[in-house]
Amino acid sequence: MKFATRLVNFQAAPKDPYQPSVTPIYQTSTFERETMDASGEFDYSRSGNPTRAVAERQLASLENGTHAFCFSSGMAAITAVTGLLRSGDQIVSDIDLYGGTCRLFSRVLNRSGIRAVYADALAPDAFAAHFTPATRLVHIESPTNPLFHILDIQRLAAAAHAHGALLSIDNSVMSPYLQNPLDLGADIVIHSGTKFLGGHHDVTCGAVIVKDEGLADQIRFISNAEGAALSPFDSFLLLRGLQTLKLRIDCQQKNALAVARWLAARPEVTRVFYPGIAADPAFSLHQRQASGPGSVMSFSTGSVALSKAIAESTRLFHIAVSFGSVTSSISMPATMSHASVPPELLAQRELPPDLVRVSVGVEDEEDLIADLDQAFERAAGLHPSTSATGV
Ligand SMILES: *Cc1c(COP(=O)(O)O)cnc(C)c1O
Repeated sequence: MKFATRLVNFQAAPKDPYQPSVTPIYQTSTFERETMDASGEFDYSRSGNPTRAVAERQLASLENGTHAFCFSSGMAAITAVTGLLRSGDQIVSDIDLYGGTCRLFSRVLNRSGIRAVYADALAPDAFAAHFTPATRLVHIESPTNPLFHILDIQRLAAAAHAHGALLSIDNSVMSPYLQNPLDLGADIVIHSGTKFLGGHHDVTCGAVIVKDEGLADQIRFISNAEGAALSPFDSFLLLRGLQTLKLRIDCQQKNALAVARWLAARPEVTRVFYPGIAADPAFSLHQRQASGPGSVMSFSTGSVALSKAIAESTRLFHIAVSFGSVTSSISMPATMSHASVPPELLAQRELPPDLVRVSVGVEDEEDLIADLDQAFERAAGLHPSTSATGV
C-alpha cells in the first residue's frame, strides 16, 4: 500500500474485544495476571502499553523499519540512543545540530565519560577523519537545522560502518513522509514527534526507529530501564496527528514553496536557506534522498534589528520555538531554539544572529504572503537604514 493509505489503514486496536475503530487510550499503569506465572502481552505501562504499541507499530511501518519506540520527548528519544554508549566512547556529530542535542552531548554525556566531537559533515572525508577506534555513534540531521545543509546520508552511513560505528539521523525536519533514512543505510532514525508527527503543537513526544533485531532489543531494554516511554494519552494524540501527516505536509509544502520564492525576491533578504529552491546548492542531493523540501526554512537579512522587527511584525506567523504544526511560526534560532548550544561550540559553528526561521502551516497561501508583505513593509519603515541595502 502507498503511504497515504498506510497512514489511515492500520490495526487500530489489535485484540480489543469490542473492535473499536479508533485506538482506545488504555489509561492503566499495570495489567493483571491470571496466575503468578502467566504474564500476558502487557505487564506494566513503563514497559509496554497497548495504545503506545499501536503508535510504535505504525511508526516502524512508516519509516520502513521493524521496531519503533515512543518516548516522552524528542530529547528522551535521543537520550535513549546514547544509552548504547559507555564511558570512553565517542560520538562524532555534524556541527549544525539542534541546540538541545548539543547540550545533551556536551554537557550531560561528558559527565559519564562520553566525548562528543563536532565537525562539518558537508565535507564527508574531512568529517570521517575525526573517527577513531572509540567512535561508536555518528549522529546527523538532514536537512540540518537551522542552516538547511543537506548531508549525504548514504555516504555518511558507509563511512560510519567502515569504522564499526552506527549512524543515527534525526529526521524531525522531514518526517517519514518525505525521507526514509533506514532505506539509505542509516541504523537509527530519531524523531521529535512534537514537530510534524503530532503536527498540532499539542503533544511533546519522540521516537526511535530501527530495522535491526539486536538494536531493537537494546533500545527496548534502555527505554524500560530509563522510564521515559510515552504515556497512553500522548500516544493517542500522536496517533491522531499522524493520520493527516501527508495531507498536512502536502499543503504546508505548497505554501512553503510560495513563501520561499517570495522571500528570495525581496531586496531585504540576503539569502533563503531551503532545499526547495533550485538556487540552493543542496537542491539536487536533497532531491535524490528525499521526496520533498518540507515546510521549514530560514532566511537572513544581514541585520539583527531588521530580522527582529520582521518577526515581531507578523500576525499569522506566531513567535514560537518548534516547527511542523498546522499553524505557521517564526523564530530567531540564535536566541531561541539554539540558545542552548554551549558557548564553546558557538565559536566553532555558524549561527548567524540575524537568521530567521519560518515554519509554514496550512493557512491560505495568499494570506501568508500578505502577512509577510505587511511585516516587511512595517519592519523596513522601522529600520530604513538597514533595509534594501541588506547591510
Ligand atoms: C525539537 C527537536 C528535538 C527535541 O525534541 P523535543 O520533542 O522538543 O524534546 C530534537 N531534534 C530536532 C531536530 C528538533 O527539532
